[in-house]
Amino acid sequence: MRARDQATTSPRTARYVIDGRPVDPPALAGGLYIVATPIGNLRDITLRALDVLAATDLIACEDTRITRRLIDHYGITTPLTPYHEHNAAAARPKLLTRLAAGASLALVSDAGTPLISDPGFKLVRAARDAGHTVTALPGPSAALAALSTCGLPTDRFFFEGFLPSKPLQRRARIAELKRLPATLVLYEGGSRVAACLADLAAELGPRAAALCRELTKLHEEVRRGDLNALAAHYAGDAETRGEFVIVVAPPEQLAEPIDIDMLLRDALGRLSVKEAVAEIAAVTGQPRREVYQRALALSKDEGFRDA
Ligand code: SAM
Repeated sequence: MRARDQATTSPRTARYVIDGRPVDPPALAGGLYIVATPIGNLRDITLRALDVLAATDLIACEDTRITRRLIDHYGITTPLTPYHEHNAAAARPKLLTRLAAGASLALVSDAGTPLISDPGFKLVRAARDAGHTVTALPGPSAALAALSTCGLPTDRFFFEGFLPSKPLQRRARIAELKRLPATLVLYEGGSRVAACLADLAAELGPRAAALCRELTKLHEEVRRGDLNALAAHYAGDAETRGEFVIVVAPPEQLAEPIDIDMLLRDALGRLSVKEAVAEIAAVTGQPRREVYQRALALSKDEGFRDA
C-alpha cells in the first residue's frame, strides 16, 4: 500500500480541480457520507460529491486503485483506505473509532451507489446505531440508468441485483420471480450474461427485455427484444465484454391470482416477519394487513424465524 493510502490526520489542502479551475469546498462536519460515484463516465459526478471527497478526512473504498483514478482526475488528495467484503469485519471497528473521534468519512464503491449490490450496509447500520450522522450523496446507479433508458415499464420495478451464479439456484430464483407484477432489474457481468439469459428465457418465456451494456461508457449499448431472441443473440458471438443490466418486462397478464404464500415463504426465509410483509406488500400491491395475516399463519404453521 502506498503511503498516501494510509489514514492520516495531518492537515492538507482540500482544494480540487474541475476542468483546470480550482475549487475550495466548504468545511465538512464529522460523520459518515455515502457518496455515489460514476458508473463509467468520470464526468457523472456531482459537485457535492466532489466537495465531500475533497474535504473529508478519509475515503473508504472497495479498490484503492479504482478510486484513485477518480480522485486523481479531480486533483483530490484525500487519503484512501480499503473497505471491501473481505476486510470489512476488521476495518469497520477502526472506521467507527474514527467517527467517534469526530472525523468525517466518505464511503464510495468502485462504481455507482454504495450499498446497492456493494458493501456498506453494515457500516451504515453500525454508524447509525452509534448515533453518528449518516448523509447520502445521491448520484449514478446502473439500475436506474438502465431503467431510465431501456424503454420498459418503470411504474413498478423489482431490483434483484445479481442472480445466483450456480445454474440450479439461478433457475429456482427466476421461477420465484416469475409472477411478480413488476419490471425486473438484474445485474450481470459479461462472462455470465449468455447463461443467465438462457435461464431467463427458459423460465419466463418470450417476455420483452433489454440488455444495457457499458452504460455511460464508450461502447454503451442497449439491445431490446424478447428473451428468446436475446438469449439466441448472446448464445452466438455477440459482444459480451463489460458490465450488463438486464431489464425484463412484467408478465403481460396473470392467468391465476398471485401466489402470496410462495412469495412470503421465500421472503420469510431471508427476512424478519415485518420486513417480509413490507417487501411482499410492496411488490404485489396487496394490502399490508392481509399479507401480515398470511405471514403470521405461515410462520406459525411452518416455523419461520422470529414467528
Ligand atoms: N453499486 C453499483 C450501482 O449503484 O449500480 C452496482 C455495483 S455491482 C457490484 C456491479 C454491477 O453493476 C455490474 O456487474 C453490472 O451488472 C452493473 N453495472 C455497473 N456499471 C455498469 C455500466 N456502466 N453499465 C451496465 N451495468 C453496469
